[in-house]
Amino acid sequence: MKRCIALLLTLLLLLPFGCRSVETLSSAVGFACDTVVTIRAYADQQTVDDAMRLIRDYERVLSRTVEDSDIWKLNHANGAPVEVDPETAQLLRLALEISAQSGGAFSVTIAPLSALWDFKADPPTLPDADALQAAAALVDDANVRIDGNTVTLKNGATLDLGGVAKGYIADRAADYLRSQGVRHACINMGGNVVVFGGKPDGTLWSIGVRDPNGTAEQSAEVLKLSDGAVVTSGNYERFFELDGVHYHHILDPKTGMPVQNGLASVTILSNDSALADALSTACFVLGPEQSRDLLSHYGVRAIFLCADGSRIEIP
Ligand code: ADP
Ligand code: MG
Repeated sequence: MKRCIALLLTLLLLLPFGCRSVETLSSAVGFACDTVVTIRAYADQQTVDDAMRLIRDYERVLSRTVEDSDIWKLNHANGAPVEVDPETAQLLRLALEISAQSGGAFSVTIAPLSALWDFKADPPTLPDADALQAAAALVDDANVRIDGNTVTLKNGATLDLGGVAKGYIADRAADYLRSQGVRHACINMGGNVVVFGGKPDGTLWSIGVRDPNGTAEQSAEVLKLSDGAVVTSGNYERFFELDGVHYHHILDPKTGMPVQNGLASVTILSNDSALADALSTACFVLGPEQSRDLLSHYGVRAIFLCADGSRIEIP
């Protein structure tokens, strides 16, 4: 009996040290995936820094522009099959599924079109109309073949995971933190937010949805949750103004032009941030009414903020 009690006491004493959950907040801010990444976690600094490093590692695999990434290799293979990381294949499968479910509003083969837009150029210029038309002809996700971990791009197709990769990577960073025993964290990749565990004091994480007509710090509303993903696609992330027209980075795959449907942003709430990311882009292209089936298919909630200040929530 005494032995039992001694063993129990030892176990109880060891318990707090057995997991690496820490009640002090550590944070890291960095630039990755072309956006500011902020990680806040109740963990030691090393664990948070390692999560940031993991995000950079994923960027090196999934970026269209980083030489020798899986996507770069595919885009430069001239149609030859390429063996990719199993996670790249898995993410491409999700992208193709959203593409099919959205009737091509989300197209992972958008690369020939997105490559024609330079939102950082000064002064900005519009892509040539013929070039847009020629590039639009190459956009068709049916040209992506996945066989195990081997991917083949047909008919001159090329890939751009810009509409889904950040969401996927944020999920993986959260998984990593959890695997290290972290119980409370918030990962923000430029409007792509994943939280888990609430805060140690039992309060919820606050996630601001940016006011499209305000500054980057102004929120139209603040969502409170303990676990899940909140992902926003906005026409203010990458854009330029030319002759009074707002040109932004969410493109209509059919025309290659920025979607102009009165929407300023779409926010998706889901427990899967990769899914939420792809859906935020798809629903921006579709607009609220045409997004209803897609949203109900995945059982997720969306908040549409319009340029005129109105708000539509589905369901
Ligand atoms: P953000 O980058 O602000 O999070 P999105 O998730 O909506 O916004 O992603 C926009 C990016 O997705 C663009 O920069 C481009 O790389 C890509 N993209 C643009 N239009 C589409 C589309 N119709 N389907 C899939 N990807 C797109
Ligand atoms: Mg997206």
